[in-house]
Amino acid sequence: MSNIPTTQTAAVVPFHGADLEIRNDHPVRQPSELAPGECLIKLYCTGVCHTDLHASHDDWPLHATTPLVGGHEGVGEVVAIGANTGECPVKIGDRVGIKWLAYSCLNCEQCRNGREQNCPKAKLSGFSVDGTFAQYTVSYVYHVTPIPNNLDSSAAASILCAGVTVYRALKYSGAKIGEWVVLPGAGGGLGHLAIQYAVNMGLRVVAIDTGLEKKNLCLELGAEKWIDFQQEKDIVQAVRDACDGEGAHCAVVTTASPSGYTQAVDYLRPGGTLMAVGLPGEAKLEASIFFTVFKSINILGSYVGNRQDAVEALEIASRGKVVVKYECKGLSDPQRVSRLRWSGHTADTIHSVYDALAQGKVAGRIVLEMPK
Ligand SMILES: [Zn+2]
Ligand SMILES: [Zn+2]
Repeated sequence: MSNIPTTQTAAVVPFHGADLEIRNDHPVRQPSELAPGECLIKLYCTGVCHTDLHASHDDWPLHATTPLVGGHEGVGEVVAIGANTGECPVKIGDRVGIKWLAYSCLNCEQCRNGREQNCPKAKLSGFSVDGTFAQYTVSYVYHVTPIPNNLDSSAAASILCAGVTVYRALKYSGAKIGEWVVLPGAGGGLGHLAIQYAVNMGLRVVAIDTGLEKKNLCLELGAEKWIDFQQEKDIVQAVRDACDGEGAHCAVVTTASPSGYTQAVDYLRPGGTLMAVGLPGEAKLEASIFFTVFKSINILGSYVGNRQDAVEALEIASRGKVVVKYECKGLSDPQRVSRLRWSGHTADTIHSVYDALAQGKVAGRIVLEMPK
């Protein structure tokens, strides 16, 4: 175990509302310090998610623990397992993923019903326990996700959060083959994966987003209709027109803006389902109660996914049915090395990624590679 260093590079949120700090002397938990059931992961890469922004900006009703290593979409290799773990589903050398839900008890009512993410003892990567913006992180043997062999690590990282979240939302929306699903924010990290999972389920997709880059991406991935929210004055009417004049059967709303949720109730056809997935900190859902009742609208929420959702979402991607559109920032791009590698100058990388995310400028997903 002597090849495990005692310090590492990590991006740390020092206190609530503070900017991330890149530290080169962050301690690595040593194998001898692992509790039974814990494992040490050497990370290859990590996705960067909008949720990381909330954790860092502290704009949610829930508050992150600080100081804390951010990040929750990591892929790496098991390098140590806590002594006395007993029966263990992973072994040293396995490639595994770390998702938002780092731990749940697996034995409460919520866990037994498959809502591990709602477990009262849930631990959240990069929020209540150290996350994946680091070279090493500690996770839990029953909650790390095995990565299929033919899926590359950077793609898998994005599936572990964005993919799982939209996959579960679609799965539980009740939308059936041939029905129309509306995806506001379709060109972003979650949206571009939602388009593909929806198409795989036989759904017909109306993509809402803005700009030519996102338009081309959405149509390329199989969306049938495109609505640019900056150019279209009446989005509700545009969606109704796009869906045979009757409105959509389902909307999976991943955006942070409250208007995306309110509009959905108006453009859904009778019997339609609004599946709320985005997590804006303050916004209220201002749906018309009259029309929610009159049109028999279902309003549901779906929050990330459990271990089974993660396995399913990754399996579909590993068969090439869902392709992650990501930009890798790190050592593989020599022109960017000085600006982007995780060593000294990397504050620029992660902060520029955060800025781009906050401004809605990221088409697809950003993945950061760890230094070797
Ligand atoms: Zn995420
Ligand atoms: Zn539980």
